[in-house]
Amino acid sequence: MKTETNLLRELPSVDRVMTHPAAAPLLERFSRPFVTETLRDLIDELRQVIRSGHGLPPDRLQDESIITDLEKKLVRAARPGLVRVVNASGTILHTNLGRALLSEAAAEAVGLVARHPVNLEFDLHRGKRGQREAGVESLLRELTGAEAAAVVNNNAAAVLLGLNSMAEGKQVVVSRGELIEIGGSFRIPEVMAKSGALLREVGTTNRTHPRDYADAIDENTGLLLKVHTSNYRVVGFSAEVELKELVAIGRERGVPVMEDLGSGALVDLATLGLPREPLVAERVAMGADVVTFSGDKILGGPQAGLVAGGKCWIERMNQNPLKRALRCDKLTLAALEATLRSYVQSPDLLREIPTLRAFSRPPRRDRGVRQESAAAAARTIGSGALPTEEIPSKGIAVHTGKMSADEVAQVFRRADPPVIGRIKSDRFMLDLRSAGDPGSLVPNLPDRQRPL
Ligand SMILES: *Cc1c(COP(=O)(O)O)cnc(C)c1O
Repeated sequence: MKTETNLLRELPSVDRVMTHPAAAPLLERFSRPFVTETLRDLIDELRQVIRSGHGLPPDRLQDESIITDLEKKLVRAARPGLVRVVNASGTILHTNLGRALLSEAAAEAVGLVARHPVNLEFDLHRGKRGQREAGVESLLRELTGAEAAAVVNNNAAAVLLGLNSMAEGKQVVVSRGELIEIGGSFRIPEVMAKSGALLREVGTTNRTHPRDYADAIDENTGLLLKVHTSNYRVVGFSAEVELKELVAIGRERGVPVMEDLGSGALVDLATLGLPREPLVAERVAMGADVVTFSGDKILGGPQAGLVAGGKCWIERMNQNPLKRALRCDKLTLAALEATLRSYVQSPDLLREIPTLRAFSRPPRRDRGVRQESAAAAARTIGSGALPTEEIPSKGIAVHTGKMSADEVAQVFRRADPPVIGRIKSDRFMLDLRSAGDPGSLVPNLPDRQRPL
């Protein structure tokens, strides 16, 4: 056995390994700084192993062996951080897993505009500069019945832009029952503060009446805001002012009304056998001056914030310098246009939009799958849509005598592709509704971790 000092002396220098002929192919695959840094880390690791006194097999310090280890390390480090996973969490629109899956048409549109020049802001008919959102805007007008529409980065941005454009320096009246927080740090009072508008809270947590709004309006009022309580419900002794009533108060006093609808459906979910989510078109028809909603929730498109409303308000938003900072890129606009086009043109929306398909898919009866009771396996929709609603699903409970639910979950997370389930009542569950094709639930587990 060699002594620690001798082994340390045998550690090669970075230079020696880099100039070894066997290292040449690595430099054809990877940049020199990347290879050098990775090699330096590898040599440091070997040094630590030697110092820890655990010893090393004698051939581990030979140049060839180090280059083999280096290649493995490079390949591992070059793997993308963002990888495909299987969503067996049971939450269909899982914010941590990227929310909506795009339709085939949308994914294809993204691929096309990513690879080629496109007429993003070019009017092919007149040969002049065109409107970046023209295509999406006309589809949104058609689908919502609004006079005009705009698109920004996400719904949080849409709310910020709306507040800033309509009520900067003025008071915005909101019910205390609607001062929501959405996961990932979207909070109405904080967005309001950043928009430069002043929050004027009215009513109480559980009850707000029309007179609360009416009494709060004065010459400093810029806007009445209604916020859809997407991710919770106030139940019991509660009262809220319906949009219709709010619009009536606003009209009478000359104050515009904006609604943050959160998810905002473009089709009636009841036709899919789901509980109803407010339709954007309905809210526009009720007289909301501006309605904002997300592109990647129930709608099933890319991350985006959609704004439908009166022409004068949308124009004001488009002229706001904030709009330039919050605008969408061509990839998003391409995906959104393709998605909206399906809503207008497709004969079979459910087949085309994966999110809608996932909600409406009947739970399967799979052989070999133990069926949970509907209640135990009921899935939530997620991302602040229909918070109290669960739709039936089928789950597979995975247990082994030897492992805790947490340990089983970890094994599945290490699979290729990683499988994300959920733990309920101390059991690890794979949910079939959010996972799409049940075939995708059979992952390649690392060999020594096949516990089942
Ligand atoms: C989800 C949600 C938001 C935030 O939307 P993002 O698209 O995630 O930015 C804002 N308001 C409500 C009511 C929501 O449900």
